[in-house]
Amino acid sequence: MSALLEARILFTLWVGRLIVRASEVHGFQLIQGECLRGKQQVEWNASHCAAIVGGKRCEGVKSTHAAGGAHRFVPIGSGNSLHPDGLAVDLLIIKDGKILNDEASYRLLGEWWEKQFPGAAWGGHFRDPGHFSHGFGGRK
Ligand SMILES: [Zn+2]
Ligand SMILES: [Zn+2]
Repeated sequence: MSALLEARILFTLWVGRLIVRASEVHGFQLIQGECLRGKQQVEWNASHCAAIVGGKRCEGVKSTHAAGGAHRFVPIGSGNSLHPDGLAVDLLIIKDGKILNDEASYRLLGEWWEKQFPGAAWGGHFRDPGHFSHGFGGRK
């Protein structure tokens, strides 16, 4: 079996345990955001801007952001993502019928997650608190 397949099997098992724990220990309701992501989507995310301008996502491409312009280019997602490898999942906590953006709640899950197996990584370290991954090949 390839190392990637072994990692994906381990990752999937622990995602299941994470979801059960979130419900049983913390009473959180979760929905799954992105898991497997195509390479084209990864490239698009890395080249389009996530900055919020006038209440909306900019979504302009990197080349349209001049140095010293109105805002700095912030990619929507990393070009180095583990999502296309099936080693990352984005989970969203639902509270009172809405997506919860409170980082402290995600931290309860992230700190537990990182103790469960070697390579387990939580996106709260890079401002993506709903992101849980299995580090692989030096990526998180
Ligand atoms: Zn922008
Ligand atoms: Zn993610």
